[in-house]
Amino acid sequence: MADATNSSTGPQPKPWIEAIHAYVPGRSAGADGRKLIKLSANENPLGTSPEALAARAEAAAPSLYPDPGCAPLRAALGKLHGIDPARIVMGAGSDELLNLAAQGYAGPGDEVVYVRYGFSVYDIAARRCGATPVIAPDADYGSDVDAMLTLVNERTRVVFIANPNNPTGSYLPRGEVTRLHAALPSDVLLVIDQAYGEYVAPQDEDGAMALAAVHDNVLVTRTFSKIYGLAGERIGWATGAPHLIATLNRIRLPFNVSNNGQALALAALDDQQFVEMSRLHNQTERARFAERVAALGNHGLRPLPSEANFVLILFEGALCAEQAYEGLMQAGYIVRWLPGQGLPQALRVTIGTREQMDAIADALAAMAQSAAKAPAK
Ligand SMILES: *Cc1c(COP(=O)(O)O)cnc(C)c1O
Repeated sequence: MADATNSSTGPQPKPWIEAIHAYVPGRSAGADGRKLIKLSANENPLGTSPEALAARAEAAAPSLYPDPGCAPLRAALGKLHGIDPARIVMGAGSDELLNLAAQGYAGPGDEVVYVRYGFSVYDIAARRCGATPVIAPDADYGSDVDAMLTLVNERTRVVFIANPNNPTGSYLPRGEVTRLHAALPSDVLLVIDQAYGEYVAPQDEDGAMALAAVHDNVLVTRTFSKIYGLAGERIGWATGAPHLIATLNRIRLPFNVSNNGQALALAALDDQQFVEMSRLHNQTERARFAERVAALGNHGLRPLPSEANFVLILFEGALCAEQAYEGLMQAGYIVRWLPGQGLPQALRVTIGTREQMDAIADALAAMAQSAAKAPAK
């Protein structure tokens, strides 16, 4: 069989690189190329802060290299979150930093632990540096601290958790995050990926930042891609002990955040009103949508509890996830079907506008009812 990644006579990729399945991004068009309303990549349905967009005009000239250390941006993040900017590193999206964390601390023969139904980038991050991914079983689709701890041994170098988790939306409360950290050996790096951290109600905060502030082995990653509405600019950041930040600085690309990206992110940080509006919109519409889907429980639809800006719906009745995915495309919407992540029975739906969520709930209800009426196969 022809294999685009392999040539029998040319350079041979490392076997652990060959074993990687490339990241599958959320789609924005149907199979026929038709443009669809995209609720497949957890982008902000409210767009971007107008203040941030206005800042593009003030970005440094494209002919000039960007500030390699993103000094003003790190200072602003430090001020907002109460962190010494020396404990912050910026990345080309948090994806870059997740990869660097694995690369900096794991290699061939080492193990990287994360939960089943975790973020798909962890698998790539572990494999690209030659480490072995070790996958902990879930607890009804959520992260299971005990299951992860059982798999930690002398070969474990890095543990990844996303909190809230993508694609499940599940959330480990503060006590569980603390317990996970407390049980890990001090030479194991715990990476807590808070890509959706700003969507969590302030009183339910998981305490990861506080752990990163005082412990030697905790790295917290954040992003401007989700609530800040800057996914297209590729800006993420990480915070932790200075020695961790120094490792990531050694191996990151020197000019990893563009002029535009730095200017937009700086202005976006200044507009916390937009962030709060986005959080409240998400909280309201997520609850409304989850309730409508839960009302289809008699048809086997089950929305998992979510603290993020999406809901994972399980299809356990006559209407299957693939059918629903195709039907939603017919209705003009693209969501995320995840058979490649072991979730052929589920769709992940990003929370969009109220009109969009009502249209999706209506379409799901209609499909569930007609599937129930169809003669059994
Ligand atoms: C979206 C997402 C990211 C962020 O990726 P960026 O590279 O910052 O755009 C990181 N982790 C999780 C779990 C995500 O869902």
